[in-house]
Amino acid sequence: MGRLFVITLEGSFYSCKHCRTHLALSDDTLSKSFHCRHGKAYLFDKIVNVTVGEKEERTMITGLHTVVDIFCVGCGSLVGWKYEAAHEKSQKYKEGKFILERFKVLGPDGSYYVSSQEAQVVGSDADDA
Ligand SMILES: [Zn+2]
Repeated sequence: MGRLFVITLEGSFYSCKHCRTHLALSDDTLSKSFHCRHGKAYLFDKIVNVTVGEKEERTMITGLHTVVDIFCVGCGSLVGWKYEAAHEKSQKYKEGKFILERFKVLGPDGSYYVSSQEAQVVGSDADDA
């Protein structure tokens, strides 16, 4: 009771920088050319050990999307978001996919990503075009 079921990933993966809960396999990375408020963000096909927040409409660089924030099950910190729906046809490929903010996670080699000081658009996102 009250014990969380946490999936353990094998191989090369990204994990929560606060509690080291495994979040995504590097093999499931679809794109590394996304951006968030804190710099780089990666698009993943699958993510584990997260809970989702409320659905909301968010306007990003590439248009309006319906997204939910995703939180680490281990410590509850916000680690990224999931695209529930894209309103632009060209952005449909993102539906059902996940963004991990690179700043919030540890890389496969245990590395931290230092937040970029460049100006970032709030709630940003980008295309891999
Ligand atoms: Zn965590």
